[in-house]
Amino acid sequence: MLEASNESSWIELDARALRANIAVFRSLLEKSPATASRQKLGIVLKANAYGHGLIEILPVVHPHVDIIHLISPRDALEIRRIEEQRQWPRRRLLVIGATSPEEFVQLAEEGVEVTLGDDNALSAVAALKARGLKANAHIHIETGLSREGFFPHEIAKKLSFLAESDCPFLVKGALSHFANTEDVTEQQYANQQLSEFQKGVDALSVLLGTENPPLERHIAASAAALILPEAHCDFVRVGISLYGFWPSGETKLSARIVMAQSPKLLPVLSWRCRSQFIKMLPAGSYVGYGCTFRCERQTTIAVFPVGYFDGYPRLLSGRAHVLVNGHRAPVLGRVMMNHIVVDVTGVTSDESSLVATLLGNDGSESVSAEMLAGWAQTIHYEIVTRIGSHLRRIVIE
Ligand SMILES: *Cc1c(COP(=O)(O)O)cnc(C)c1O
Repeated sequence: MLEASNESSWIELDARALRANIAVFRSLLEKSPATASRQKLGIVLKANAYGHGLIEILPVVHPHVDIIHLISPRDALEIRRIEEQRQWPRRRLLVIGATSPEEFVQLAEEGVEVTLGDDNALSAVAALKARGLKANAHIHIETGLSREGFFPHEIAKKLSFLAESDCPFLVKGALSHFANTEDVTEQQYANQQLSEFQKGVDALSVLLGTENPPLERHIAASAAALILPEAHCDFVRVGISLYGFWPSGETKLSARIVMAQSPKLLPVLSWRCRSQFIKMLPAGSYVGYGCTFRCERQTTIAVFPVGYFDGYPRLLSGRAHVLVNGHRAPVLGRVMMNHIVVDVTGVTSDESSLVATLLGNDGSESVSAEMLAGWAQTIHYEIVTRIGSHLRRIVIE
């Protein structure tokens, strides 16, 4: 399914794969022993939906999930606008990232839930009170990542304002975030974090008193949602795996060990590019900046108008291959800002334009985000989130 496009390079999004991944998590939650009540499925659409494209991913996932998590308040407000424009029912939206006092006000006006995770939360109290607004809030508990959150022992003191009767924050939930569920196959640190989390929840419950409805607890990102059912709590926050990726090799290995049948995740994104031109180089020609590659033999090259500006890492220079007509075709020399040069000798017989798959499948060959990450000395999270937001996204049903 190589879609025609007049753009230089473009992203194809497989809507069916996306829905299948959602179904995987629904069924995991149904089997989960963690609570008797129905657990909710939360997804994470931060970072332009992990580089896939928030605007394109949203319509596919919106009807099928319970809660959408964003880092940026602006993204949450944008989703509210889209819901109104298209007359969709409103989904629960929760901003888990940095929020200024003005943004707390805007989010409260739009019925978006907010996270209190640092001392800036207090500075929003006056602004909300001045407008007579109430905000549904989740308290971030520091359990060992050393990022956002209040330590369990400081909750009573630092968050005492939450117990005041005119407090504009209505505390609905408590959350935390694991530090290394992805990096290991034994979950000792995660279990330690879970017990700190419980301490924080208890401290918060004492502070808020029995009048406050029971707190919704959430701590599991993709890895814990997959392999740590005791961490499912009241809802999960699935990021990377919504898009069909295992968080890490270790998580995949753990799943094989802890589950009778490990789930099948389907990558959603393919990245393709149409060649700008094709030409023949005589043996001995140098290719690209720095003359780092020299042709041993007469070589047919295709130049593709994509480069590190678009998010194709420069560290792929001399290492990556793309797929052309179902064959692996090496990237020659350095990745440039807006160009790559690919050896297509033997994979094409004329000079008509070619479509390269930079990421995704072509015939029986595939280039995964994990492969690109390995070549570029990073993780697949970074590969996909850095794909340029300027590239056209096409949703394939
Ligand atoms: C990014 C993030 C997630 C999702 O993590 P994945 O590993 O991508 O599933 C969940 N919770 C918080 C607080 C996050 O920052």
